[in-house]
Amino acid sequence: MNKNKSIERKVDSLLALMTLEEKIGQMSQIRHFEENAEREIKSKFIGSVIHTQGPLPGETAKEWQAKFVKLQKVAMSNRLGIPLLFAVDAVHGQNTFNGATIFPHNIGLGATRNAELVEQISRITALEAQATGFNWVFAPCVAIPYNEKWGRFYEAFSENAELTKELTRASVRGYQGDLTLSNTILATAKHFIGDGATNFGYEGGETNLDQDEIVERLLPPYQAAVEEGVGAIMASFNTLNGQSMHANKEYITDLLKDKMSFDGMVISDWKGYSRFGENSIINAGVDMVMAVDGDLSGFQEGLKKGVEEKEVSLERIDDAVRRILRQKFRLGLFENPFPDENLIAKIGHKDHRSIARQAVRESLVLLKNNKDILPLDKEIKKIVVVGEHANNSGLQSGGWTVNWQGTSENYRGATTILEGIKRTAKGEVVYDMHGTDNHKDADVAIIVVGETPYAEFFGDIGDGKGAYKLTLNAKHQEYIETYVKMGVKVITVLVSGRPLVVTKQINKSDAFIAAWLLGSEGDGLADVLFGNYNFKGKLPHAWPKDVNDFQKAFGPNYWDTSITPLYEYGYGLEY
Ligand code: BGC
Repeated sequence: MNKNKSIERKVDSLLALMTLEEKIGQMSQIRHFEENAEREIKSKFIGSVIHTQGPLPGETAKEWQAKFVKLQKVAMSNRLGIPLLFAVDAVHGQNTFNGATIFPHNIGLGATRNAELVEQISRITALEAQATGFNWVFAPCVAIPYNEKWGRFYEAFSENAELTKELTRASVRGYQGDLTLSNTILATAKHFIGDGATNFGYEGGETNLDQDEIVERLLPPYQAAVEEGVGAIMASFNTLNGQSMHANKEYITDLLKDKMSFDGMVISDWKGYSRFGENSIINAGVDMVMAVDGDLSGFQEGLKKGVEEKEVSLERIDDAVRRILRQKFRLGLFENPFPDENLIAKIGHKDHRSIARQAVRESLVLLKNNKDILPLDKEIKKIVVVGEHANNSGLQSGGWTVNWQGTSENYRGATTILEGIKRTAKGEVVYDMHGTDNHKDADVAIIVVGETPYAEFFGDIGDGKGAYKLTLNAKHQEYIETYVKMGVKVITVLVSGRPLVVTKQINKSDAFIAAWLLGSEGDGLADVLFGNYNFKGKLPHAWPKDVNDFQKAFGPNYWDTSITPLYEYGYGLEY
């Protein structure tokens, strides 16, 4: 009668049948395209398959499903018939599939402060991920970023622990529900812990925080995720006070599993076993290993040897496997191991896109609106739209879009900012991609500037030496100069994964909008520019004034009172 009790009984009876090789197999995650994937699933009893950057499982969603069905059948033809978990980095929509609905990155969702909307977004992402064959996402990232120089700044909701906690709860609920619903999948809170608080924002660097600060500022979102029954938590690349987080038993086992009663699985990050201390990460409490890119046999043989030599206890292995099987049972994977073909029609569905468009509208933060230049009158005679970011859905979406490092091309089903403006404005709209045309006669210039896509350490700015990257590039600064000199009114839209130092450009512009990384529905911007909706977004981070604000290990944060930001956390105008 008691669902959880009966799951525990099933887990125990299955575990009792398993050999050591089968247990270590469950703890292994491989890539779907590896040459011997099928053979390894069969002979090495693999527990999970990942898709991220790399060869696609197929062209169409039908082909993706077919590929995963095939691998699932191989897994289920094994002696014990344990189904695979299929995991994907769907961090703002099912972003690995060209044609899926792409939502604003988490930083934009942080600006919306709309937990209900975040829950809807995760539910849609779960659906589109399922439609392409997955039952597990490596999201949400629940980091608390301490420094804009961090290349993953935009993957996190906010610098504020309370807001991050609330949106984490909503996000996990959206992906998972209580897992009994057919349209839910496993979520992963990542990266445990201290990923966003490394010195100078180095991805995978050293975090020096004391335990009180970790508990106060970094832990609350994990607490919320655990309370929502999150299926997995991913260990982080960083060290914490000199100790690798993957091998940190005090945090993974003593705090997360024992004290916080997390009963899900801890997954390593990329090649975590070979990179962070092999069996010491298992002893610290890592349950499943991304044994990718040549790591599989080293992991499986190394762990087996570790058990034989009593370096790793059998109890630890059983605990790991129990956690993995528990999630597979909770997910209903034994009854429903295959994706549903009927879901394919939901990928990029107009209802999903309309939620994404709402998210764009609500994420925009109006920083300046001189003489009420906004909202624009739709009847305005001539508008010039400037900059390559204005007509490129890849550039407007940031990293983790179609490719790991994002794309600078338009992608399927997306609408650009310019297209949205053209559809809404009633007068003439001209496009000046490189800010070189002469449109002195325009009534207003909408200038779209920003960063080009990046992900993970590719986006790191590093110590003081890279400080110039915290400002706009010279070409984009020039767009604004040019139109100001022509005497045209300037509305600047900043597309970026973090607040940049743009004090001068804000001063020169008549209006200035922080648009973050919008995703596929660029027309959400026009909705707000032309007054169909008011601005709602509030800054999820304090906004820096000067590059010198970054001389310290941590950037300007609302809790660091020694730096006065240009705009405080929570700032955001309306008309
Ligand atoms: C990232 C994770 C991601 C994993 C799998 C790693 O490099 O740190 O966030 O989930 O790759 O693609």
